[in-house]
Amino acid sequence: PEVKVINFGAGPAKLPEEVLLEVQKELLNYAGTGMSVMEMSHRSADYLNINNNCQNSLRNLLNIPDNYHILFMQGGGTGLFAAVAMNLISRTGSADYIVTGTWSKKAAKEAAKYGKVNLVLPDTKIGTIQDQSEWKLSPDASYVYYCDNETVDGVEFPYVPETGDVPLVTDMSSNFLTRPFDVSKFGVVFAGAQKNFGPSGIVVAIVRDDLLGSALPFTPSVFDFAQIAKENSVLNTPPTFQVYTIWRVFEWIRRNGGVEGMQERSRLKSGSVYEAIRNSKGFYESPIDENVRSRVNIPFKLRGGADADAEFLKGASKLGMTQLKGHRSVGGIRVSLYNAITLEETKLFVDYMNRFTSSYK
Ligand code: PMP
Repeated sequence: PEVKVINFGAGPAKLPEEVLLEVQKELLNYAGTGMSVMEMSHRSADYLNINNNCQNSLRNLLNIPDNYHILFMQGGGTGLFAAVAMNLISRTGSADYIVTGTWSKKAAKEAAKYGKVNLVLPDTKIGTIQDQSEWKLSPDASYVYYCDNETVDGVEFPYVPETGDVPLVTDMSSNFLTRPFDVSKFGVVFAGAQKNFGPSGIVVAIVRDDLLGSALPFTPSVFDFAQIAKENSVLNTPPTFQVYTIWRVFEWIRRNGGVEGMQERSRLKSGSVYEAIRNSKGFYESPIDENVRSRVNIPFKLRGGADADAEFLKGASKLGMTQLKGHRSVGGIRVSLYNAITLEETKLFVDYMNRFTSSYK
């Protein structure tokens, strides 16, 4: 008998089964139109409804104030690394970057093509976020940038940084919609869909209106926040199927307690994995400071080294638990607990962790 697959991948990642079934059901005939969303003009009334409903759904989930635009963009998180700089850095010519891991480091490197990048943290020891009193924020930065959750390293901010009047920009690609946050504290929030809310190929950007309109003159139109905002995210052919699918996921989140519901699930899921690590008396090791441990991406290593890691993965795979290998730059194990991962699936994983400590010789 085949075992049921449990996909703990870091992204593209598991989507709620309920949503996949809904998409399947509507695939050949969307809302009585006789065609798939994929085959529909992006200028049709049906698609424009999807576009607006999707935005409204997200606006309600996060209480996004009226002075923010919701933009649907392409180019992935990596595209946004460039877009953020191209749209904002000309305001003063420089920007502050808080580097806490792989993705913020890449973002800082990309931004340096378009202006001066200041590194805020005195040193970049991965697994720690130094106290804000040690940060070197520059008063004339166009914006302060950070990554709310570092997917590869497993470091998550437990608070929103304080930057005074300087606009705050954050990459929430791996923890978007896993907890509530106060949108009004941010200038720009962006997230690729492929971890918590949909297929790859779409990035959502939430942009405060006063930050529109200062793009560098050579900014491609498809990366210009102001142009996309003006055209309500239909500047050119958008990723229509993705917009439709993320809307379905937003509605699934709403039906399941909203972002507060997701936060509670996330607390229980990640809490049980970290408890297993703590109770293992060093059999499993997390290199991340307790106060900044991610609730969604949990990297850990086995005391037994690479052989033990491999044995662990082999046993997991027999139980249908897949995509658990740590990022190629870090090694070890990484378990990702995005919104679609259930409490039951997490429990099966934790039970396996506990059993493995006694079975491994
Ligand atoms: N930011 C974060 C936090 C990520 O996890 C990733 C992808 N794993 C990216 C940015 C890059 O996204 P993309 O591959 O869509 O360019």
